[in-house]
Amino acid sequence: MSQIPVAKPVLDEQEVEAVRRVILSGWVTQGPEVAAFEEEFADFVGAKHACAVSNCTTALHLALKAVGVEAGDEVITVSHTFIATANAIRYCGAVPVFVDIEKDGYNIDPDLIEAAITPRTKAIICVHQLGMPCDLRRVVTIAARHSIPVIEDAACATGSEILWKGRWEKIGKPHGDIACFSFHPRKVVTTGDGGMLTTANPEYDRKFRLWRQHGMSVTDAVRHGSKQVIFESYPELGYNYRMTDMQAAVGREQLKRLPAIIARRREIASRYAEELRGAAAAALPIEPSWARSNWQSYCLRLSQDLDQREVMQELLDLGVSTRRGIMNIHLEDAYSEPGSHRVATGLRQSVLAQLHSIILPLFAQMTENDLTAVARAVQDCVSASKLAIGQVG
Ligand SMILES: *Cc1c(COP(=O)(O)O)cnc(C)c1O
Repeated sequence: MSQIPVAKPVLDEQEVEAVRRVILSGWVTQGPEVAAFEEEFADFVGAKHACAVSNCTTALHLALKAVGVEAGDEVITVSHTFIATANAIRYCGAVPVFVDIEKDGYNIDPDLIEAAITPRTKAIICVHQLGMPCDLRRVVTIAARHSIPVIEDAACATGSEILWKGRWEKIGKPHGDIACFSFHPRKVVTTGDGGMLTTANPEYDRKFRLWRQHGMSVTDAVRHGSKQVIFESYPELGYNYRMTDMQAAVGREQLKRLPAIIARRREIASRYAEELRGAAAAALPIEPSWARSNWQSYCLRLSQDLDQREVMQELLDLGVSTRRGIMNIHLEDAYSEPGSHRVATGLRQSVLAQLHSIILPLFAQMTENDLTAVARAVQDCVSASKLAIGQVG
């Protein structure tokens, strides 16, 4: 029996052909394909500026630098996220300040933000976890009250949407100050590795472009194309966070597929909701009325009486791969040193979410057969009969 994977990138001949074209052009690093990808991505999300970088972690690093985060500063975010969110804060010498997530979801609880703010708070990173938009309207309102910039970790949220002043808008416009995206193969579209920063602020965009290529005053492409001799200069410390033209060419093909990929993912999610409604010992993910998820991940909350590892093993035995829910950064050894972070609130919901949630297979190529096979296996493993009597729900 073949195993149903958790995720699978949609890659085909069009991507192969795009890379082939770039390789044979002789220009493989950041150049015309990156520029075109940026323009098309900005168009897609409705952003003024989009700057491509090597991945979302480097995007977060540059975003934090752009809003002025420095050593000793604090940045409010969640522990219940991929470790890169907080690592980027530490690259700046700043301290991640963790607040808890909402009870019924996996995103930051806006009610907890204000109490975590101190004179040292220089930014808030909110995460659109699993592709589900966080309550941006409230986050942005609170941040504005304290003049604190908002960086959206939109790593998982390419193509997700939010209802904003009565209109559906793409995540990444951005609604905060800067949004950061990932094109890792575990996200909905991929360039192998890759990232994107979007902003409405031209000064931020200028800085991203300077910093991503060693802080160098002119790009390789400009020097290469110039009829005049150009000597570059290095006005400030930069990094090598470039995306290659080979990756960008793949990204452009992925962007063409994106609307169909998202439509299919949303269809699968609603089919899951139908099929799993009867699973007494599991709670389905909630999509608020003001959010449209790209369903980067479909996360099921198990009843606390069920053993997460056992359920996952049973599902694996039935041919269904799963992953456990999102990690909690504060529980990792890399964050055990005093001073590596600060916990501003209890993190009870974060810990419960990690312990009791599992991620089901969801990818655009899934067939109806795959879908019903997963649903049936979940029904089997997560049935009320596995619970102690009187503890269903
Ligand atoms: C994947 C992910 C990242 C890191 O993205 P990379 O492109 O792999 O650097 C950051 N934050 C979140 C929430 C993610 O899921």
